[in-house]
Amino acid sequence: MSTRVTAHINLDALKHNFQRVKDYAPNAKVMAAIKGNAYGHGMLEVATGLPEVDMLAVERPAQAYQLRDHGIEQPIIVLGGFDDELELQEMAAQGIMSVVHTTAQVSLLENTDLIQPIAIWAKLNTGMNRLGFSEQAFSVAYQRLTKLNNIQQPFGLMTHFARADEIDNPATANQVKCFDQMADKELPQSLSNSAAIISRPETHRDYVRPGIMLYGISPFSDQVAEAFDLKPVMTLSSRLIDINVCKKGDAVGYGGTWVCPEDMPVGVVAVGYGDGYPRHAKNGTPVLVNDTICPLVGRVSMDLITVDLRPTPMAKIGDPVVLWGEGLPVETVALHSETIAYELVTKVTERVRRTT
Ligand SMILES: *Cc1c(COP(=O)(O)O)cnc(C)c1O
Repeated sequence: MSTRVTAHINLDALKHNFQRVKDYAPNAKVMAAIKGNAYGHGMLEVATGLPEVDMLAVERPAQAYQLRDHGIEQPIIVLGGFDDELELQEMAAQGIMSVVHTTAQVSLLENTDLIQPIAIWAKLNTGMNRLGFSEQAFSVAYQRLTKLNNIQQPFGLMTHFARADEIDNPATANQVKCFDQMADKELPQSLSNSAAIISRPETHRDYVRPGIMLYGISPFSDQVAEAFDLKPVMTLSSRLIDINVCKKGDAVGYGGTWVCPEDMPVGVVAVGYGDGYPRHAKNGTPVLVNDTICPLVGRVSMDLITVDLRPTPMAKIGDPVVLWGEGLPVETVALHSETIAYELVTKVTERVRRTT
């Protein structure tokens, strides 16, 4: 494990962002998305840091059991649902809730002996065309589900938006319309991801499902998290471990993709794609050395990056470096790396030490 690269997880910021969700959706309960190891922030740390959340959403049953084994008591829902009888029985026995998105899962619910009824949310496909029942499939599934003793009645209904991050795109309103046509109004409903929590109050309904905003990251590519008073939870940091005094014309790193325009100091920072720093980060991606923005120069390698130290010429070996987080939004790094902030935080690797 690297002792140099650290992901500091600020639980006060997490609680603050949770409060922001409550401010936006005061009448809704909160189902917090902590899949992908809580978007790389540490599932257990985040679950422990959010004792007031109404429900935790994970990707597979294994994560739900892990949370229970560590004493997490909030209700837990498995977004991917169950694959077979054994999985269904175990989830029911452990009191884990499930998303149900296929007719095959409805059949399993009808044909499996359960120790106690399982709580489920049926997922409707309203336009994303990923998981969920189509309108026709659901009209049949709905009749079957309402008759089931194996599930807790009433069950919930959910859908997921494909384009809620595009504020003016009519696709989201169309999805809502489709949902309202399919949904029995008496059943609990859940529609909103972070983008819709912020921008579409009419979608809040019974449960909202924030992910990215809990981590202090903006769900919109053209607006920063600060604009919504969200605070970054993860700060990824390392140290300067060497400094090269380069001459004009020297090429830096693999492929020599960056050539020094003048005599200049080039700093070497102990972080690379082996830690989850994006290999596609371009020359010019901001890196904070001693709180000063220094542009990335040369290619990102597995364990190291190189930075232009001209903005902080007095920098010395051992000085602190922030890759993203407090003082440098991860969204900015994502823009320079042709990806989204979701991917950057989720891909922070195992060897990076998480501290709270
Ligand atoms: C990940 C996820 C969310 C959270 O989305 P954000 O954009 O991170 O807020 C909500 N619902 C479902 C079904 C998800 O998979």
